Amino acid sequence: MKYLFALVFIGQFCYSQSPYPQDYFRNPLDVTLVLSGSFAELRSNHFHSGLDIKTQQRTGLNVYTAAEGYVSRIKVSHYGYGKALYITHPNGYVSVYAHLKKFAPEIEKYVKACQYEKESYEVEMFPSPNELPVAADEVVAFSGNSGSSGGPHLHFEIRDNEERPINPMLFGIDIKDTKRPFISAVYAYPKNRNSHVEDSKTRKELRLIPLKNGDYNTEPIEALGEIGFGIVSYDQQDLAHNKNGLNNIQTFYNGNKSFEMDFKRFSFNETRHLNRYIDFEIFKEKKSRVQKLFVQSGNTLSMLKDVDNHGYIKVEDSTNSVYKVRLRDFKGNETWLSIPIKGKPAKEVLEAPELKPNTYILANQVNELEQNNVKVYFPKNTFYDDFHIAFDVSNDTLKLHRDVVPLTKSYTITYDIKNYADDEKDKLFIASLYGYYQRPNYISTKRIGNLLSARTKSLGTFALARDTVSPTIQPVNFQDGKWLSKLSHLKVKIDDDLSGISNYRATINGQWILMEYDYKKDTLTYDFQDNISTTTENNLKIIVTDNVGNSTTFETTFYRK
Ligand SMILES: [Zn+2]
Repeated sequence: MKYLFALVFIGQFCYSQSPYPQDYFRNPLDVTLVLSGSFAELRSNHFHSGLDIKTQQRTGLNVYTAAEGYVSRIKVSHYGYGKALYITHPNGYVSVYAHLKKFAPEIEKYVKACQYEKESYEVEMFPSPNELPVAADEVVAFSGNSGSSGGPHLHFEIRDNEERPINPMLFGIDIKDTKRPFISAVYAYPKNRNSHVEDSKTRKELRLIPLKNGDYNTEPIEALGEIGFGIVSYDQQDLAHNKNGLNNIQTFYNGNKSFEMDFKRFSFNETRHLNRYIDFEIFKEKKSRVQKLFVQSGNTLSMLKDVDNHGYIKVEDSTNSVYKVRLRDFKGNETWLSIPIKGKPAKEVLEAPELKPNTYILANQVNELEQNNVKVYFPKNTFYDDFHIAFDVSNDTLKLHRDVVPLTKSYTITYDIKNYADDEKDKLFIASLYGYYQRPNYISTKRIGNLLSARTKSLGTFALARDTVSPTIQPVNFQDGKWLSKLSHLKVKIDDDLSGISNYRATINGQWILMEYDYKKDTLTYDFQDNISTTTENNLKIIVTDNVGNSTTFETTFYRK
């Protein structure tokens, strides 16, 4: 009796000690929660740090604070989160609202004062707790599509007091989901030369058999030695067709757990290991994200748990065994995959295809490559594995392997441009060449004397490019010398062909004005409500500069009363 009581007590104790307060945070919108992106779903170079909430294909919806607190950070940037608001709550959690169109009037005023003081659209502020307090259910902003957002939505996050994003659904934010995760591909990965799958010593795609009940099998496979597996899998919620991420993946070999990935929470400083977690080569070549259900060196993702033999199984000769994968979404809908395995030696000794060696990279050392006028410097541990890197320089084109190897950090490319004429040197930059047509893409380039250097986090093909053409500036909604009394905004289109826009500066009658740059529409917009022009005759001047310093000045006169 005593024993039973203790059990019940412990059960209740654990429940009440749930680390995440329930019903504390509300839906930040007043429309039904429909997601276009889920927490920790797989994105380019990172796990998604929040929920992407649909805003009915519109901008301007009220955004409510998820709970009372104070505005502790505001960031306005051209890219990334665009206009973003951070609210700190009394319980230590921080809620984040991004890609906003505008802030609520009091916050908007605070931001504009800072922008006019710094004469910059891009600003970051850390208000003190008493400056911008917010009450529960207060409207703090309006939803938008600012920054690197591909369509109107609200990006919403909850972070703990160590800046780690946590799945907001753990706080009771509810999204309807009765659908089970689905699988679209499965791969086997022999770990080394002593193992094989179906006589292959390298990655092998297995044929997936969907079952009537929603689970999956593969045909029995013949294998031996240490083997890992990888899957392509998604979850869908009831109210949208978007392919979202899972909440948990576990694997079992003959009933024993061998691997778990739990997508509850992560740190920003580990999010890049996503490139180690997925099969980066398949992603680069087919745009498909295979999640590897085993842990390779250097992958320190905290979401990986309870690992036995790093998730690899050991298949013994003349045995029958079964490998199972359990996929779960946040609502607990689950899908199983079973892979029957027969232990058998390979029919013949098959060797992995040999790469043509050029230069061998030792991952745990500094690696320096040099040819003609180009030097490449990889700091220690830029790579996860040792490998043969393909390296070649001819006519200023640097071929540095292919962009199929994941990197943990940036490395440096340096070109010596002493053979160029002095007037040309100013206009040169280092470009990465991408796509079928090998289009040059500016990468941030610094020049010291005859040395041009750039840092990047991808391998691939690079070249020197020259930009001698200045940006263009064209009025969109006004003409020179006209009355513009009825206009609420001034809009111009700006563009630069090769190196891209670096900065811009606009004034009316010599006074700096705030122009919002929308890089997706190539526009600069001024809002007359900012109240800068006060005279009848006004001079608008805009200077736009590209990344190698070519600049264009646009001037016009307009009248207003
Ligand atoms: Zn997002």
